[in-house]
Amino acid sequence: MSGIYIHIPFCKTKCIYCDFFSNVRLDQKDRYVQALCDEIEIRKEYLGNDPVRTVYFGGGTPSLLNQSDFDRIFDILKDTFDLSQASEITIEANPDDLSPQYIATLASLPFNRISMGIQSFSDDDLRFLNRRHSAEAAIHAVKECQANGFGNISIDLMYGLPNQTLSDWEKNLENALSLQINHISSYHLIYEEGTKLYRLLESGKLSETDEKISLEMFRMLIRKLVDGGFIHYEISNFGKEGYFSKHNSSYWKGEKYIGLGPGAHSFNLKTRSSNLPDLNKYINKEAKPITEVLTDDEQYNDFILTSLRTMWGISLTDLKERFGSRLFDYCMKQATPYLNRGMLIKQENRLKLSPDGIFISDGIMSDLMFVD
Ligand code: SF4
Repeated sequence: MSGIYIHIPFCKTKCIYCDFFSNVRLDQKDRYVQALCDEIEIRKEYLGNDPVRTVYFGGGTPSLLNQSDFDRIFDILKDTFDLSQASEITIEANPDDLSPQYIATLASLPFNRISMGIQSFSDDDLRFLNRRHSAEAAIHAVKECQANGFGNISIDLMYGLPNQTLSDWEKNLENALSLQINHISSYHLIYEEGTKLYRLLESGKLSETDEKISLEMFRMLIRKLVDGGFIHYEISNFGKEGYFSKHNSSYWKGEKYIGLGPGAHSFNLKTRSSNLPDLNKYINKEAKPITEVLTDDEQYNDFILTSLRTMWGISLTDLKERFGSRLFDYCMKQATPYLNRGMLIKQENRLKLSPDGIFISDGIMSDLMFVD
């Protein structure tokens, strides 16, 4: 089974922390949709005859497309790939775009999951981040989607904002829990080079959250969501039973996927390819995907990075079968100090992060990766 990722690289405004490939040239939308349909056609062999299990429209802001844009894309997707078993079709949406009419449009299309970039229920935070919605609009959008039959809703929440206190964060989490949604992705604010946020930090106009507070926020996130009935199935992802993101899970399980649109990545188990993040070149078909064949060591590193971040961890059987004794022994040698300290646990022939290990997962993953 495979996945399809479709990148919609437009945003009405740019959030101050964002380094995703997107721009505000909405006048290019029609030409872009045509180029996207062309790419689907050109790369129809990529998935072979594999049936598609998930389709994910991400961005950018996919909720800037209208019904006829989606009709064109879905028509060609259905003609090109086997979507007969597609069980999860997600759209990332900005709460501000989710008018009752737009939600009704989405409900008439094949979408069965909505992922909303809410980020915070504080209007001050939203203004600071340059998000274009308000907290009230976000809450209203979730309720409208639920009333229109969308039972599978995910929201994104961000923590570690400058001046955000533990009590602010707790209120955010309580707001999220009160919405009766089934999935939450939550990430610490990152100061990515090249963003407005980074420039503010560099110029001393704001300062990063203290590490101890960040850690406390992460602990609170886990505690409150687990108490609220969510399962912590990946470092930054929480879902109720039956509502884990199938699309993202397929990345973490190392399954095949095709990424369409500028800046999108594809993976077919042995090679990884990426489209140039350049809208004009993409529309004018002046750029081909860059493909790299992954060495055994690189495949091993991907396997460690993607598996260990989930609650299922690393299958030691798969590790040995796929990579042989050399990398299996290397992994176990590197894991031993963490096993002894209780940061990793071995259970049913799987290596997993312990509840304490989650807090130092970056260091553990980096130590388990193979460096020549
Ligand atoms: S809406 Fe999303 S993609 Fe667009 S600027 Fe904001 S964070 Fe980036």
